[in-house]
Amino acid sequence: MNVLDKEHLRANLDKVIWNIEQARITVSEHHIVQLVAVGKYTDVENIATLYDLGQRAFGENQVQQLGARMYALEELPLQWHMIGSLQKNKINNLIDLRPTLMQSLDSLELAIEFNKKLLLKETNMHCLLQVNTANEKSKSGFSNEEAYDMYQTIQETCPNIKLKGIMTIGAHTEDSTLIQKSFEDTYSIYEKLQKDGATICSMGMSSDYELAIKCGANLVRVGSLLFK
Ligand SMILES: *Cc1c(COP(=O)(O)O)cnc(C)c1O
Repeated sequence: MNVLDKEHLRANLDKVIWNIEQARITVSEHHIVQLVAVGKYTDVENIATLYDLGQRAFGENQVQQLGARMYALEELPLQWHMIGSLQKNKINNLIDLRPTLMQSLDSLELAIEFNKKLLLKETNMHCLLQVNTANEKSKSGFSNEEAYDMYQTIQETCPNIKLKGIMTIGAHTEDSTLIQKSFEDTYSIYEKLQKDGATICSMGMSSDYELAIKCGANLVRVGSLLFK
């Protein structure tokens, strides 16, 4: 247990919001960025405190923990995002949780299976296509080359999946030019998909969210900086 002091969390949150503001204004006054606070490494009490401080959207990368936290905080009007890879045997559990956005649709196989289960339950879900922009073996997701076509394919063949945009994790390196390249590549895919209804470009974490925003991200997923 590591329950953080409210004033400590307020300082963390204010700093991140300030930095987001600085970065987004370099793009345009009209460029609005949503902050999703990733609570996967912190205690549920800290999530409740962040809610008290005004934060509404939270992300988790495991279905089980997502469910436990949604249940623990069910009195609060929170938005929940699933951001981790989804195992096939957890699809039904995730559907029953009804998260606001499932950000990590990372293969056609998963999409087909997911759609099938959504159909059986007569429901649908808002999802993002996960792109492995940096082309790293350790990461899942569609390659840059296939992402655009796969987005169309899923829209056509999986009607219960409502695609809202794309998500990526920046290149895992200290070299910011490579990270920037992975964000720029993702943004150019997103730009092409706007005519297909894409409105969310989710990229940027604690180490690179400002860069991601400057490259066009309109949703950032920040964990460790908020809860350190
Ligand atoms: C953990 C995680 C984050 C947040 O990472 P931090 O570096 O702690 O900000 C963002 N996105 C995904 C997909 C994650 O798994």
